[in-house]
Amino acid sequence: MTSPTDSDPLESPAAEIPPEPRGEPIRPLIAESVDTMRVTLAHARRDDAVIGVVPTMGALHEGHLSLMRQARDECDFVVATIFVNPTQFGPNEDFDRYPRTWDADLQHCRDAGVDAIFHPPREVMYPPGFLTTVHVAELTTLWEGRHRPGHFDGVTTVVLKLLNIVQPDIAFFGRKDYQQQLLIRRMCEDLDLPVEIRTCPTVREPDGLAMSSRNRYLTPEQRESALSLSQALRRAEEQIHAGQTDLVQVREAMHAHLQAASGVRIDYATIVDPHTMAELSQSDQPEMVAIIAATVGETRLIDNLPITRP
Ligand code: AMP
Repeated sequence: MTSPTDSDPLESPAAEIPPEPRGEPIRPLIAESVDTMRVTLAHARRDDAVIGVVPTMGALHEGHLSLMRQARDECDFVVATIFVNPTQFGPNEDFDRYPRTWDADLQHCRDAGVDAIFHPPREVMYPPGFLTTVHVAELTTLWEGRHRPGHFDGVTTVVLKLLNIVQPDIAFFGRKDYQQQLLIRRMCEDLDLPVEIRTCPTVREPDGLAMSSRNRYLTPEQRESALSLSQALRRAEEQIHAGQTDLVQVREAMHAHLQAASGVRIDYATIVDPHTMAELSQSDQPEMVAIIAATVGETRLIDNLPITRP
């Protein structure tokens, strides 16, 4: 007669996991299928490791690496995901020319101490017959959602899939994509996902330009113009810190600064509530966020700055 632990997989989940290869494992492990990722994680989970995930689209830069380092600090086992998600790009957006720099990304992940990379081909994430979309209401009608219809549905759907595949304890996102991290927090709370969301500060170039995989599209002249985004955000902060409470005037000054730069087309530049992202006209609350989206040449850039009233 077999004991319950021999026959009941729920009683002995470790028995289902194939053995780990002998010797020192090569890091980072690379998984292209959901099954390989799950087996890799099952080994980590058996050791009670705290698992962290850093979802990215690759073309890694210091912004991404700061998330990986934060994950390394807080977690025992760090997974980076690298997947250029087609469903979050609009039909006239840059999916085809989005930078793909696998060799450099792999080296960056190695240097940052990442344990495993989930790097699925498109058909693993969206096999034939795929029909489901995750939609967060309200927040998706504003700002990025209004200017990029369908974008956030693509983001929340792929992030939920990645969270379900990795089942991390903590997931790390950048404040650079302010509205995105807010939506992901909402989704996780609404759908009772057992994961902590960390939002990490925006990493900038020394001259203030927020790091972005798309910065490599900019010519030297366009890069100079792109500085107007972070400058306009800093000006807004200075005005509010100097006692300006009329945020309509702050908004006008942001627009004027952006319009003074050559070749910058503004999608929006304003001050919003940090939780609802509703536009504010008076600084009668302590916390605000200045947000900007603008196209420089052919490159659409976003940036933001949290502002605390003095
Ligand atoms: P992406 O590869 O653009 O999808 O970005 C992957 C993650 O990196 C997202 O959580 C972004 O918010 C974050 N990220 C991108 N740029 C930066 C940055 N400059 N500073 C901090 N986090 C960033």
